[in-house]
Amino acid sequence: MNLDFLRGRKESATDEDHRVDDIPEDAIFSVRGLQKYFDSGSGFLGESTPVRAVDGVSFDVREGETLGIVGESGCGKSTLAQTMIRLQEPTAGSVYWKGDQDVTGFDDARLKRWRREIQMMFQDPSSSFDPRMSIGDSITEPLRVQGLRESAHRREIAEDLLERVGMSAGHIDAYPHEFSGGQKQRIALARALAVNPDMIVADEPVSALDVSIQSEVLGLIDRLQEEFGLTMCIISHDLGVIREVCDRVAVMYLGEIVEIGPTEEVFTSTAHPYTKALVSSIPVPDPTQRGDGIELHGDVPDPSNPPTGCRFHTRCPAVVQPSELDLDQQTYVRLLQFTKRLTRGIVTEESVEGVRELLAEQQGIDPSDVPREDLVEELREEDDLPERTGSTRVDSALRDALAELADGNVAAAADELSLLATPCASEAPEAVDVGETDDHTASCLRLTSDYESVEAVELE
Ligand code: SF4
Repeated sequence: MNLDFLRGRKESATDEDHRVDDIPEDAIFSVRGLQKYFDSGSGFLGESTPVRAVDGVSFDVREGETLGIVGESGCGKSTLAQTMIRLQEPTAGSVYWKGDQDVTGFDDARLKRWRREIQMMFQDPSSSFDPRMSIGDSITEPLRVQGLRESAHRREIAEDLLERVGMSAGHIDAYPHEFSGGQKQRIALARALAVNPDMIVADEPVSALDVSIQSEVLGLIDRLQEEFGLTMCIISHDLGVIREVCDRVAVMYLGEIVEIGPTEEVFTSTAHPYTKALVSSIPVPDPTQRGDGIELHGDVPDPSNPPTGCRFHTRCPAVVQPSELDLDQQTYVRLLQFTKRLTRGIVTEESVEGVRELLAEQQGIDPSDVPREDLVEELREEDDLPERTGSTRVDSALRDALAELADGNVAAAADELSLLATPCASEAPEAVDVGETDDHTASCLRLTSDYESVEAVELE
């Protein structure tokens, strides 16, 4: 395909290299401290509490590689994708192109030219096409916008691209509704390639497709990347997709990157407890084998009010115990979850009354006659709390907490359990090197010498 007319107009890397100090030589795209906050429009006493969708993210994408960004839904990865290519304006932080070009400072004209160098592919191929435009026109629309006037030349390019993505040139005059989801995603790839970009950012490129079609499209992306010398950034919630096509992977949790490194190393020498939980939840193909799934409690917390310290501490199975405790880890996690239910208003005076009424009904007595010790035992069972924890201090605090709860004093019950407070709630972990090279980093207190390693605790 002759795309020379575009090549001549691309800005070359830099004549004089003014790379920002910590950006590696081979990075084509870099973000530093990127933030995207949204106005939630609601807050205490009318104040607005920002939703911190992306909160201080830094990484590089090296020329020719595929970087995957993975995380549960709601972790901020799609907002990151849109903010990093300025489809949404960042709240703070910087984006650099080819080491020294500050994308956040681009004016409209430069931004328009840059949009030819970096393309985006979206999850739902159906919504990314104008139903009134033929496939050929859709593919070449960006070329027309960029100034390629000869329609015969545009058509030639579209036919060539259709064949390269495994379609027929004869499809050029057909309309989007005539194609399946997988075919539309192939056409979306052809459209992204039409302007001969240096990099493509693909947000969940195969998640709307049948599993059988997914690997075909992933194979195509892989092949075209090599053929066109492309750099890719793939955003996905699916670790299987990431493992299949990415050279490196960044794991996101609640607006932050918690682990980043070469894909195979992250999968086989996983460092962060969140990544361990995600990796352990990948289905095992052999139904007779049991995966060692690590359970994550609850949903991703509200990004307008993220947990203090390590943001993962409210769900982390490896959460650090205070130095004076040495409980069985599952027991500790269960007690912390109970404390969280008290402080977050999930267990309330009303819910305790509900338990009391149920007991009264079972015993055929008036709720006010339910013996306090029966209510305490029922509350203990409801949350699957142990009678003995191995620590007389914790046993006694738990007894006192349940007694306060039975009297309807939820806040006092939470106070009784303050001895369980984890250092993970007050200390935000820094990224530390965890691999053999400085390419693999993760942010967890257990990866520092101040705390026992993740391996020292049994995760469930
Ligand atoms: S610092 Fe590490 S151990 Fe503590 S909550 Fe975070 S991920 Fe878990």
